[in-house]
Amino acid sequence: MAERLLKFVSIDAQMPNKREVAKRTGDFHEIYAEFITQKANEQASRCSQCGVPFCQTGCPLQNNIPDWLKMTAEGRLEEAYALSSATNSMPEICGRICPQDRLCEGACVIEQSGHGAVTIGAVERYITETAWDQGWITPITPPRELAEHVGIVGAGPAGLAAAEALRNKGYQVTIYDRYDRAGGLLIYGIPSFKLEKVVVSRRIEHLKASGVTFVQNYEVGRNGTLADLRAAHDCVLIAIGVYKARPLPCPGSDGEGVVEALDYLTASNKTGLGDYIPAFESGALNAQGKRVVVIGGGDTAMDCVRTAIRQGAAKVTCLYRRDRANMPGSAREVSNAQDEGVVFEWLAAPKAVHATSKGVTGVLATRMRLGEADSTGRQASEELVGGEFDVPADLVIKALGYDPEPVQTLFDEPALKVSRWGTIRADAITGETSVQNVFAAGDIVRGASLVVWAIKDGREAAEHMHQAMRKQARQLGEAAQYAAQRDVTLKPASF
Ligand SMILES: Cc1cc2nc3c(=O)[nH]c(=O)nc-3n(C[C@H](O)[C@H](O)[C@H](O)COP(=O)(O)OP(=O)(O)OC[C@H]3O[C@@H](n4cnc5c(N)ncnc54)[C@H](O)[C@@H]3O)c2cc1C
Ligand code: SF4
Repeated sequence: MAERLLKFVSIDAQMPNKREVAKRTGDFHEIYAEFITQKANEQASRCSQCGVPFCQTGCPLQNNIPDWLKMTAEGRLEEAYALSSATNSMPEICGRICPQDRLCEGACVIEQSGHGAVTIGAVERYITETAWDQGWITPITPPRELAEHVGIVGAGPAGLAAAEALRNKGYQVTIYDRYDRAGGLLIYGIPSFKLEKVVVSRRIEHLKASGVTFVQNYEVGRNGTLADLRAAHDCVLIAIGVYKARPLPCPGSDGEGVVEALDYLTASNKTGLGDYIPAFESGALNAQGKRVVVIGGGDTAMDCVRTAIRQGAAKVTCLYRRDRANMPGSAREVSNAQDEGVVFEWLAAPKAVHATSKGVTGVLATRMRLGEADSTGRQASEELVGGEFDVPADLVIKALGYDPEPVQTLFDEPALKVSRWGTIRADAITGETSVQNVFAAGDIVRGASLVVWAIKDGREAAEHMHQAMRKQARQLGEAAQYAAQRDVTLKPASF
């Protein structure tokens, strides 16, 4: 079968076809088409099957990439799916939205040797979409039902991955979430042109069919406390993500017409799902016909600029204080945004937002330059004297990142230790917090990160919750056995 591999010398790297700019910016559908079978086999066959698979180390889940690429090249797709899903709870989602250029594909040996990486993410998506189409993904039927109940707060990727892993082992799982739909940022943050919502809801339906209970519109801090959840469950997992938007420290940044990125994206996603959103209908969270300025350079900023283009903005400008090479967002998403007509002002930072009684009129920005690198190697950005310029705007979107909400207050539990950044302090290996039988996973532990890391954390926390619950069950069993023996010993002999 070796002749089916190592084709990177004769076959070029190729992503699935991208829809033409004019067509894709007119709707919110995903921009990449599905690989056809022949293309997936061909692209998988480019893998060099190198001795040390750097792609695997570049993947946070340590996916066994070379083996499932080999199986795909050989047409053994059911086996490829079994292998890829053994380490990843949502391979079709990671295949779509992981920043592969910074993870598996960035580490691929043939990428490093200048041949262009194997398109790992696209093949992973293809394998799992085939599994769904062929009916290989069926509801979970655990080997035996266990008595223990687990409560998970947060139905984002960390909570969902943990729920799946725990249900596989037979635990009774309930997920609580403050939103009306499950999925966390997969449903209300990330736009459909990167991840269609049916892909997320299919996973939720799968978990429901597997016996996981979802309690929506339940907010810890409003509807209950951590003590309530601990009383109702044997173990609790906190996977609530981070939602406190970082402020824009300049005059005018809280005025009318200046909005938070997640408010804007959530309104757009909800509208796409058929909900009536007054702030979208009124225009407050709708970019149609407006000159839009987005401030920030991460994934969230890229999602905002591209959403604004699709809503029919008159012009979309992105202001970022560093240069393109230092943008934290995926390079692939930045070039997609450029292709779609977004204007990038790199090395530019806002100094003030100007407004009249009618709303925002523009942003006063200044040119920056990169200075000395700090101890982490990152160059600080410094203002250039006399570099001020105006960017006209009718809508300004702040996309500067997110910090945790005050969890000790929300969960009414001062014993729940947090770091100085407000993230929950959890054991790096087990995910256990300072409160017994309470674990934490995902962004609320790491700070704003990636879906693939949230999945990894959720799976690992689930494994350690399982170990903790089995240990407690054994101890209870031993105690009961001991008590029974004592009972027998102490019982007066009956004559
Ligand atoms: C706009 C945007 C775009 C992104 N794009 C990408 C991308 O392309 N690729 C990528 O890998 N990552 C991306 N990310 C990051 C990624 O979405 C997160 O790292 C990931 O979703 C974190 O998962 P999580 O489960 O920890 O938290 P979340 O997905 O945030 O889920 C947390 C859940 O907890 C619920 N919750 C919060 N507080 C409470 C409470 N008190 N009570 C009950 N429920 C509560 C929330 O409603 C939510 O459903 C993006 C992030 C944003 C904001
Ligand atoms: S999970 Fe993400 S990083 Fe890992 S192989 Fe898939 S696309 Fe690459």
